[in-house]
Amino acid sequence: MTEKMMHIDGLWTRAQSTTTRDIINPFDQGVIATVSEGGRADARDAIDAARRAFDRGPWSRTTGPERGRKLLLLADLIERDTEELARLETLNTGKTLEESRWDMADIAGIFRYYSGLADKDGGEVIASPVPDSTSIVVREPVGVCGQISPWNYPLLQAAWKLAPALAAGCTVVMKPSEITPLTSIKVTELCAEAGFPEGVVNLVLGPGATVGAELAENPDVDLISFTGGIETGKTIMRAAAANVKKVALELGGKNPNIIFDDADFDTALDYILNGVFFHAGQICSAGARVMLQEGIHDRMVEALADRMAKIRLGDGMTDGTQMGPLISAAHRDKVESYIGIAREEGARLRLGGKRPADPALANGFFVEPTLFTECANDMRIVQEEVFGPVITVERFSTEDEALARANNTIYGLSAGFWTRDPDRMRRMSAGLRFGTVWVNDFNVYFTQAPWGGYKQSGLGRELGRMGLEEYTEVKHIFQNH
Ligand code: NAD
Repeated sequence: MTEKMMHIDGLWTRAQSTTTRDIINPFDQGVIATVSEGGRADARDAIDAARRAFDRGPWSRTTGPERGRKLLLLADLIERDTEELARLETLNTGKTLEESRWDMADIAGIFRYYSGLADKDGGEVIASPVPDSTSIVVREPVGVCGQISPWNYPLLQAAWKLAPALAAGCTVVMKPSEITPLTSIKVTELCAEAGFPEGVVNLVLGPGATVGAELAENPDVDLISFTGGIETGKTIMRAAAANVKKVALELGGKNPNIIFDDADFDTALDYILNGVFFHAGQICSAGARVMLQEGIHDRMVEALADRMAKIRLGDGMTDGTQMGPLISAAHRDKVESYIGIAREEGARLRLGGKRPADPALANGFFVEPTLFTECANDMRIVQEEVFGPVITVERFSTEDEALARANNTIYGLSAGFWTRDPDRMRRMSAGLRFGTVWVNDFNVYFTQAPWGGYKQSGLGRELGRMGLEEYTEVKHIFQNH
């Protein structure tokens, strides 16, 4: 199998240590690729290349329309190779091919959206209080950006960072999760084909503790954008503090999905399931904390158990599969340990809680769709991110109680609620302390709207106009005539 390499300063490069890593299909543990595994020295080379490219230009000094054209070309190339990209993503993550195809369509759209925004920021003229003067505000690219992404949406999360950074005129060092680098490698090839100047898009492969840490610590990186777990986010923030590097963080979530008695029962049921079982629950915005009002509680629990028992587990590459495996043996251990904790805490296991018996799934990292009822708000299974196919159900009686419980979390990424009452819609939308609130829907996001977390779910926003502003510095130019 040919070893896949890093991309530094316009060249495909092997790691200095010549270490390699096998990339595994989580459905059957087969080796799907071997990649060169970099370390700190490789990361430093990539940062140096990005620094030189930023400082000398031309990318950082091109006009918005020129950058927009290049991003549009990249979007077309992604669309041309969408099926190859989707297959790579499914082989590497285990998610269904249908989900990967949606991801790739989104990704092409993200590059198109930011290509359109690249020439839209005209700055601002300020009404100066000083006679005979001009006061203007312009936005400039922030500089060299380190971009660290997770394994659950490998290319989608990378695209949320890469597209706005390039649109703003920054140079980039991408670091995908060490276990899911394949689509980032492919898109780096497409960037080379699109003709981005050397040093503008660099890709370093390797572990977080070395390559990722170098990006967070190195003073030549102007901004570090990270998506991943909350503890890693804190480590990165501490490292970035040493040189007051700009930090953008998209961290975890524990997202309530609140169903009031007057909800449209069937639609809410569908969206509880959609909200949790995409990618086997390995979604930062998974609505795994289901809160049911007492009048709807028993009927909804029965309906959930019935539907969850019918979810078809299997190979993401096979038609008809509805849920693939978890990403790794280590992650399955984590999910299983939470199932054990929930039982010890006294939650009632209504369904699942174990590995599937089907021998055809024995080599995959599967856990059955799992339903816990009678959960209390302070249980760890309710408060902590499990990141697997596990629903906890809490029962509530009043709106005030639902709101207080939903907000009782260190996280603040997203929340949803279901009701037909317009006054309640207004009260709940205003009261929920989360970056995204869905009313009669769940897990809808799109490129045009900002995404990010309140509280410990993160810092800053990705997507939308705000996603582009993250990659700019604001300069006030005052001229006395
Ligand atoms: P992780 O924190 O273990 O790893 C994420 C990335 O950080 C990987 O590339 C890893 O190599 C790197 N990393 C690890 N240690 C590092 C260090 N010390 N310094 C620098 N980089 C380091 O997270 P994960 O397990 O890959 O992803 C799952 C997490 O991501 C979940 O908590 C999930 O909620 C979160 N997530 C959040 C969003 C969002 O939009 N808020 C989206 C997707 C995933």
